[in-house]
Amino acid sequence: MRTFISFEEARKIVLESGQTTGSETVPLNEAHGRVLYGVHDAQCDIPPFASSAMDGYAVRAEDFENDNPSLRVVDHIAAGRVSDITLTSGTCSEIMTGAVIPEGADAVVPIEWVAERSENVVSFTSAPKPGRHIRPAAEDVRKGDRVFMGGEVVTPPIVGMLASIGVDPVLVSRRPEVAIISTGDEIVDPITLPGPGQIRNSNGPSLREQVVSSGGACAAFHHAPDDESAIKRVVEGCAGSDLIIFSGGVSVGAHDHVKTVLEEMGAEMLFWKVKQRPGKPLAFGKLKDSLFMGLPGNPVSSAMCFEIYARPLIRKMLGIAQVSGPRLKARLVRETKKVEGLHFFARGIASQDEGGRLKVEDAGPQQSNLYGTVVRANCIIHLPQETRVAQAGTDVEIELFEWAGISPA
Ligand code: AMP
Ligand code: MG
Repeated sequence: MRTFISFEEARKIVLESGQTTGSETVPLNEAHGRVLYGVHDAQCDIPPFASSAMDGYAVRAEDFENDNPSLRVVDHIAAGRVSDITLTSGTCSEIMTGAVIPEGADAVVPIEWVAERSENVVSFTSAPKPGRHIRPAAEDVRKGDRVFMGGEVVTPPIVGMLASIGVDPVLVSRRPEVAIISTGDEIVDPITLPGPGQIRNSNGPSLREQVVSSGGACAAFHHAPDDESAIKRVVEGCAGSDLIIFSGGVSVGAHDHVKTVLEEMGAEMLFWKVKQRPGKPLAFGKLKDSLFMGLPGNPVSSAMCFEIYARPLIRKMLGIAQVSGPRLKARLVRETKKVEGLHFFARGIASQDEGGRLKVEDAGPQQSNLYGTVVRANCIIHLPQETRVAQAGTDVEIELFEWAGISPA
């Protein structure tokens, strides 16, 4: 087992362990937020036919070689109807936006250019060039084009594109099934009034939302006391999960049993302890067909280690190429001290300065039991292992939280 490794090594081991979880089909109206699986090729042209970009008149541009022709109106073509009249010299058809361009026409004159219109004769103030106000077929997508490579998170516009190329149902990645086990004798359910020495389970509920917002499914949600056989029973009940996440019980205390239980169950511990703060006792490995991650119980460590390791892992399992948010550069507003030798994930508040540049300040005291800083923060400030003091005014790297700038549902 590797121990006390760098943040970069730990991330690499975690990501290399993540395998894609396969696929399933869902109706298009449930595809939003899912991840496309495999390639999607267009089975048709978009637009499927040449159509009018304006309400106006489909004409033959050559009829305008003589100034201001009076054209005979031979048809009225609404969207959704195909005219069976071929335009000949001296004729035109009234046409609406989105309607199929009739045979013989090569331009559309918008209604705003009409000079005079009688019962069935029309003249115009200007002449169109060939092709004017016509949307050619296949201008957006050509039949056979590779529209999606797979691995795209489905956004509302992607739903629109899938609809326009006729993909329903949609092949998406199966959601990784994640079991969450909160350990600790002191932990009670949030709706329970804690007795003396007890605290409410805050990690479990937070982790459940972190799992779901990463694209995973919370397949099991348990509490286990600090007792080896009780932990073992709960873990056995999570067999078949793609990932088992523990909160608490992975440190060196007399009641930290998670590692021992997993080792007794035949787990392969890939690493334990990372040169980082918060979350030094992080544990990661494989148990039969599942991966597991033991997050230290301090609420800040639990939340931050999930964001740094588990969210990218779930995204990897989903087949998303970009597993983490971009690392952005921001100017540090306040000097921040840290322990040399540990990569520090400070909770930060990023905003724009007067010049529109990103600046960031710490979200308050950074002890790993002070959860309020995670609540207030909108980003992680990465301060590398070797740094001791990050000076005010220098550039640091930040990673926005997935929920930064979230809008109400
Ligand atoms: P542990 O990693 O088990 O030593 O826990 C470290 C600290 O985190 C202790 O103060 C625990 O009480 C606290 N803690 C552990 N699990 C949770 C949880 N699910 N919710 C809130 N606090 C927790
Ligand atoms: Mg504990």
